[in-house]
Amino acid sequence: MEDCIFCKIIAGDIPGDVVYRDDDVLAFRDINPVAPTHILIVPLQHIVTVADIPDDGFSLAGKMIQVAKNLAVQEEIAEKGYRLVINSGEQGGQIVRHLHMHLIGGRELSTKLG
Ligand code: 5GP
Ligand code: ZN
Repeated sequence: MEDCIFCKIIAGDIPGDVVYRDDDVLAFRDINPVAPTHILIVPLQHIVTVADIPDDGFSLAGKMIQVAKNLAVQEEIAEKGYRLVINSGEQGGQIVRHLHMHLIGGRELSTKLG
């Protein structure tokens, strides 16, 4: 996808601090971390929001959670806990229009959402 920053990271056209890659997803560190661990997990395929995931595409969403789970172990935050967030669409606070899951941890997070 032209002009998509995450597609450019996936393609290697712009640098990303990549922590995991397979045939379906890429995970890289957020450029502006809000916690000691802040990783973005994205599908290689350009899907814009949760609303654009096809009905037969939810194994991909499960895969994103599985990758987050494994990365949390790697980051040594699994035991204390972490937060997974998918901002979806304009009112959901999504800024980059390529589906992504935030894995955030390494400090006590606010119990407030929204
Ligand atoms: P959103 O608000 O769309 O859920 O979150 C987008 C996230 O992407 C933000 O946390 C932001 O810091 C991150 N981000 C934006 N541009 C880049 C970039 O070029 N590289 C990386 N690694 N993260 C980015
Ligand atoms: Zn994209």
